[in-house]
Amino acid sequence: MFEGLSGRLGDVLEKLRGKGSISEDDVKEAMREVRVALLEADVALPVVKDFVAKVRARAVGQEVLKSVTPGQMVIKIVHDALVEMLAGEVGGAADDEDEDERSARKRDRVTEALDLNTTPPVPILMVGLQGSGKTTTSAKIGLRLKTMQRKKVLMASLDVQRPAAQHQLAVLGEQTGVDTLPIIMGQKPVQIAKRALDEGRKGGYDVVILDTAGRLAIDEELMEEVAEVRKITNPAETLLVTDAMIGQDAVVVATEFNEKVGISGIVLTRVDGDSRGGAALSMRAITGRPIKLMGTGEKMDALEEFQADRVAGRILG
Ligand code: GDP
Repeated sequence: MFEGLSGRLGDVLEKLRGKGSISEDDVKEAMREVRVALLEADVALPVVKDFVAKVRARAVGQEVLKSVTPGQMVIKIVHDALVEMLAGEVGGAADDEDEDERSARKRDRVTEALDLNTTPPVPILMVGLQGSGKTTTSAKIGLRLKTMQRKKVLMASLDVQRPAAQHQLAVLGEQTGVDTLPIIMGQKPVQIAKRALDEGRKGGYDVVILDTAGRLAIDEELMEEVAEVRKITNPAETLLVTDAMIGQDAVVVATEFNEKVGISGIVLTRVDGDSRGGAALSMRAITGRPIKLMGTGEKMDALEEFQADRVAGRILG
C-alpha cells in the first residue's frame, strides 16, 4: 500500500530537501504537487484541502524559510500534518500507562488498542460492508484476546442473510480455538445477539464478539438492523471494518456507519495489498474516530496496531 503516493511525495519533497533557501513560491509549488499526489491516491477532497492549507500556513512561517535547513523543516511539517491526519494529533493517542505497570505484564499493542473496560461479558460489535474482512478480523481479535490477555472469548455471527457466513465463523473458531455460539437457524440478528450475551454471562465469558451481516453496498435495512443490535448490546467497541482498497467510497461508507450506527473505531484490512491507500488517510478525518487496527494478511496473526507515525513514515519513505 501507499507505493504510488509515497513515490510522488518523495519526488516533491526531494526537490526541497537539499535547498539552502526556499521561497514562498517554492512552498506553493510543492503544495500544488502534494495536492495532486493525495487526490490521485484517493484521499477525499476536503481532507486534502485541510492538509494542504495547514502545511502551507506552517511552512511559510519566517523561522522556517529563514532557517539553515528549510527543506528539512518543510518535510517535518508535512510528516506531522500526515500524523495529525491519521491520528487526529501528533504522537497518536495518549499513552499514560505507567512503565512499571506496562512491564508487569506482557504488552500487546493490538488488544491494548481496544477499550474494553466494562463489566464482562464485554461486547465488541463488528460492522462494515460484505467482504470487508469482518469475520476474519473477528477471529483475529478473538485469538489475540485469548492468547495475549488470557480472555475467555465467545464469537457469534449475526449474519442471517448468508448461512455460509455463520459457518465461516464457526470454522475460524475451531481453527483458533475460540468458542462460537451454536447456530440456530431462523433466529433474527437481535435474537442471536441477546442469546450471545446471555451465553456470555452464563458461560463466564470475558468478551463477546458480534460479527454482523454486511451488504455489498449500504442499504437502509442493514443500517437499521445494525443500529438496533448496537442499541440492545451497548458494545464497548463498535469497529467499522474497511478494506483499504475501497477508494473514494470510503467517505460514504464511513460517514453512513458513523452517523446511522455510531462507531468507536476503524479497522483497516488488506493493508498488505497494493491499493493506493488514500481511503485510509481520509477515514480518521472524516469520522473523527481513530483507526485502531490494521489487517496485514489472511493469516490469523496478521493483525497490527495502527500506528500513525509509522504509517506516515512509510508514506514519506
Ligand atoms: P466479511 O464478509 O466482511 O466477513 O469478510 P471476510 O472476513 O470473509 O473476508 C473476505 C476476504 O478477505 C477473505 O478471503 C479474507 O481471508 C480476506 N482478508 C480479510 N482480511 C484480510 C487482510 O488483512 N489481508 C488480506 N490479504 N486478506 C484479508
